[in-house]
Amino acid sequence: MTPPLTALIADDDKATAKLVEMLLIKWGIKTVVAYDGLEALEVMMQADPPSLLLLDWEMPSYSGIELCEKIRQIDTANPPYIILCTARDSAEHIVQGLNKGANDYISKPFNTQVLKARVEVGKRTLELQSRLVDAMTRLDHLASFDELTGLLNRRVLFERIREDFSRAHRAKENLCFAVCDIDWFKRINDKYGHPAGDAILRQLGDLLTQELRPYDRLGRIGGEEFLLLFSVKDDCNAVKVLERIRSAIEHHDFVYEEKLIAVTMSFGATFIEAGEEVARVEAYFKRADEALYRSKETGRNHVTFSENIV
Ligand code: GH3
Ligand code: MG
Ligand code: MG
Ligand code: MG
Repeated sequence: MTPPLTALIADDDKATAKLVEMLLIKWGIKTVVAYDGLEALEVMMQADPPSLLLLDWEMPSYSGIELCEKIRQIDTANPPYIILCTARDSAEHIVQGLNKGANDYISKPFNTQVLKARVEVGKRTLELQSRLVDAMTRLDHLASFDELTGLLNRRVLFERIREDFSRAHRAKENLCFAVCDIDWFKRINDKYGHPAGDAILRQLGDLLTQELRPYDRLGRIGGEEFLLLFSVKDDCNAVKVLERIRSAIEHHDFVYEEKLIAVTMSFGATFIEAGEEVARVEAYFKRADEALYRSKETGRNHVTFSENIV
């Protein structure tokens, strides 16, 4: 949805500012008025600044041109649309104004219909920009998060884990790297249907999120498999945390269309000691996965560590 448009009118001539303000309000645009360049810049530095700017060329403190330059230096995904309003309408001035970052210019004294048409062009440009920014945000999200559970996807998860490893190494923290997989998930799909399976994956994602701390790492690495990475005091602590999560899943009420569905998960984990030479994420993944395989072999609903630390 496009946010409501707010325009900034910057003009040291109060009568002109008032006239433009009245016109914009009549055309359904919210307005903010500044009477010199500095005041206008301050408005633009606030959160959620106006997106359509009508800047007078000659003003105290900063001219319209200087303002253009300064505003274009503000780092934003949503740059404003700038119309310079000026009596200086020689080719040289027009070129200078556009080169400094204005999108358009209008000569003073202006014709109301021309101003209206130029404001409409600005509105259309801003709407298009806003739709593009929304689309990019959605694409960014799709590229990083798993659509079903909202958790990080495998690619981004591995990237973040590499960063987590460096941070933990610097902070000399022990880590627990674990993978977990739903037991007999195919049977659940077969018995209750695929949508029920999807609902369980979503509920499981929520439950795992609740069981971990906000700064722990969690993601869906594929199908019915998740990856967890968290810092721990020692190896006993790692076992306790995973046992607690395993038990929470076993005792959780997974519900789909008022049917209670029993779910358990098997865990495979490896302990990474503070200060040890950190290996590649894939190497820990392989170790944890082998341990997970043993949990499956020994009856499922189980936590197994790669080294026999239990
Ligand atoms: P195990 O205890 O050995 O892990 O048995 P399992 O049945 O869980 O394992 P298997 O690998 O045989 O089956 C995994 C199933 O997970 C099969 C697949 O259809 C299902 N699955 C994978 N991704 C999804 C998904 O996104 N939604 C649903 N509903 N099912 C999925
Ligand atoms: Mg002026
Ligand atoms: Mg499974
Ligand atoms: Mg699996």
